[in-house]
Amino acid sequence: MTKSGLFVLAVVSIAFAAPLCAQDAFTASFMDETLRFDIVHTGTKGAEQISLDKLCTEGAWPGSLTGLIDSLNLGEYQCRLIDAEKDRLIYSRGFSTIFNEWQTTDEAAHGAQRAFHESVRFPLPLKKARLELYRRNKHMEFGKIFTTVIDPASVDIIRDTKMPNVPVTQILHSGAPHEKVDIVLLGDGYTKKDMKKFFADARHYTDQLFSTQPFRSRKNDFNIWAVSVPSDESGIDQPDKNIWKRTALGTSYNTFGSARYVLTMNNDAVRQYAALAPYDFVIVLVNTPRYGGGGIFQLYATCFTGGETRETAWHSDYVFVHEFGHCFGGLGDEYYTSDVPYTDFLPAGVEPWEPNVAAIADREHLKWRDLVSASTPLPTPWQKAVFDSLTAAPRSFQKNAADYNEKRRAAADALSQFLDRHPLNNIVGAFEGAGYKSNGLYRPAVNCRMFSKSLIDFDPVCSRAINRMIDLYSK
Ligand SMILES: [Zn+2]
Repeated sequence: MTKSGLFVLAVVSIAFAAPLCAQDAFTASFMDETLRFDIVHTGTKGAEQISLDKLCTEGAWPGSLTGLIDSLNLGEYQCRLIDAEKDRLIYSRGFSTIFNEWQTTDEAAHGAQRAFHESVRFPLPLKKARLELYRRNKHMEFGKIFTTVIDPASVDIIRDTKMPNVPVTQILHSGAPHEKVDIVLLGDGYTKKDMKKFFADARHYTDQLFSTQPFRSRKNDFNIWAVSVPSDESGIDQPDKNIWKRTALGTSYNTFGSARYVLTMNNDAVRQYAALAPYDFVIVLVNTPRYGGGGIFQLYATCFTGGETRETAWHSDYVFVHEFGHCFGGLGDEYYTSDVPYTDFLPAGVEPWEPNVAAIADREHLKWRDLVSASTPLPTPWQKAVFDSLTAAPRSFQKNAADYNEKRRAAADALSQFLDRHPLNNIVGAFEGAGYKSNGLYRPAVNCRMFSKSLIDFDPVCSRAINRMIDLYSK
């Protein structure tokens, strides 16, 4: 055998050995099956309790066989699975909840107690394993809040989960679920007659996602599934307009009193329909043209469909990708000029866990400092006063004046021109104004899909966070 022949053999054996080893780590600890751990999460501001609701299997494990430990350090919570015999971490994942968002509202501040149904999913362990749930303290360190033993042989695991019998369509196929990010699209407020529209919507928003960077470059790392979820009535609940609809997933506007915040508290229904496809992430399309959506890290994203007028139809394209940025990348909002229902979303002086919002903006500590060139000043001046005056202008317009719409359009144009022609576009720095705060929080770029209502791509810091998440699920 020649030297070059030996070399080829060596390369081949390495290429085959690597995935086999990683897969061996999975098969040594897990069955290729998903276990769903359902909990009831109760409490008020500053206090919480987790109680077991039920355990059930969900079919084959759709996640990666190699990306078992989550080192991204994102999310308000973290679930850890520990091999009880060897006391070794075998699976972990960061996530956020509706509960932790609710804790920042006035209602919770006034001492109200509420309960939320939630799920944690992981591959079914072969042997007894310890499930531990962690919550961040105000210094952002994880502290244990719940622990239990998962016994795969337990009779408490429901194994005949009754799945709804509805059609499932694959919108995009790139490969085996273990090696791809699997997104399941569900619809709410679509009747059986509306299903043609649902599948057209599913295709349209899939195209929107993959026309945005960095998703465009990573399209081959995704599978997209669409589940036909029939509702009794078209449209969803709009409590502020006294509109109530019988829908399969129970989505509603006015979450936490915000007109445009769309979530559902019916976690069980979402999970039952989602489990019809192998899924890592869930997006719920709601069959209404009213502006709204929501996105919680590792829970789901929601988005309205279409638009109230032809002129504003692109708004849902913006919202869809923006909300998925929250749900998938753990990205924080970079805007600071809109009203939100949170009173203390990010405590002062604490570095938030979101990868694209920073409280500390100096060259030694800025969390994305490796992407900032030496010539860029930190914090980075960006004519913030001009931007602030442009966004404040519409507040002085008389709503019943004849030229109201014309003036609003002109103001929106002036704002997008300011952003589009900004001399620091494509520069990574620390731009003051982010995370609902005008001062003291910084974002990585002048503009981004997490900052302005536009069809702009994600900025380089958000893109890196998204790429890391894609890698976790596809490698
Ligand atoms: Zn947002």
